[in-house]
Amino acid sequence: MKYDLAIIGAGPAGLSAAIYGARGGLKTIVFEQALIGGQIVLTNEVENYPGFEEILTGFELGEKMKLQAQKFGAEIREETVESIIIHDSDKEIKTSEQNYQVKAIVFATGASPRKLGVSGEERLTGRGVSYCATCDGALYRGKVVAVIGGGDSAIEEAMFLTNFVSKAYIIHRRDELRAVHSIQQKALKNEKLEFILDTVVQEIIGENQVKSLSLLNKKTSVASELIVDGVFIYVGISPNNFLIKDILQLDNQGFVVTDDDMQTEIPGFYVVGDIRKKSLRQVVTATSDGAIAGFMAERYINGY
Ligand code: NAP
Repeated sequence: MKYDLAIIGAGPAGLSAAIYGARGGLKTIVFEQALIGGQIVLTNEVENYPGFEEILTGFELGEKMKLQAQKFGAEIREETVESIIIHDSDKEIKTSEQNYQVKAIVFATGASPRKLGVSGEERLTGRGVSYCATCDGALYRGKVVAVIGGGDSAIEEAMFLTNFVSKAYIIHRRDELRAVHSIQQKALKNEKLEFILDTVVQEIIGENQVKSLSLLNKKTSVASELIVDGVFIYVGISPNNFLIKDILQLDNQGFVVTDDDMQTEIPGFYVVGDIRKKSLRQVVTATSDGAIAGFMAERYINGY
């Protein structure tokens, strides 16, 4: 099948590229293998995306973006892209269903939660270890949990968890949080949160269910055990670069390097959103990336 523009990933960056590409007259297709709406679908509250004074859930915002892209004629297909083949100016995408010939690609596969990498984490995932408070928080009503990390995600999601839990410990490896000031200020006022700083998790303990954490204070070298019913891990993200890691330039953390127009070293191949090397990963910067790429793809295809 032939399309002008293929977009891989239907998060805010990909859907924004679809809006701009389809509205610019390109025959546009979007592929998504998991969540239409991307990672924001896992976010309970989006309060910093301009234009919505009321707080939307990530699901609601993702749904609005999807409907807007479809309104302009973009097709959205739930198919897994298996490979991308570049033949000079033409590009081929093989999915689980069929092959597509396209003139330009916007790659928007985003990033996934990074693993902590400690003993017990993998074995107890789904048995007390979680990477999604929105999905699993309600399972911990009245219980005690730990949240690992000191960034925006850890602090925001810990606050969300206090809607259910009796107590949430935030365990961070330094004595200073990375989260922005406004998020920190809210968290410090929350009486269900307790901060354990300068501390790392050495092991997640439990046979069939999380029972406790083995901790180490890095300043005092004192080890301790913390009894918890669950642990939510928010220690950053890793880029979903599997499909392009051999064809595009990556930085030392695996994010894709583009120019200001989202253009990579392959003409007509744009990379947008959380998988791109950038300093601010937000819904608003993802949609900005997507808008630029959709616009540039239209210029590229029409030979401007
Ligand atoms: P992040 O900003 O990279 O923070 C990761 C946190 O995990 C840091 O505090 C880091 O510690 C800690 N960490 C990393 N590896 C660790 C390890 N092995 N052991 C213990 N701790 C470890 O990641 P994020 O919070 O997931 O956010 C990802 C991006 O999304 C960021 O750009 C963020 O601003 C954005 N975001 C924005 C919002 C919002 O605007 N409302 C909400 C969520 C996320 P150090 O501080 O010591 O490095």
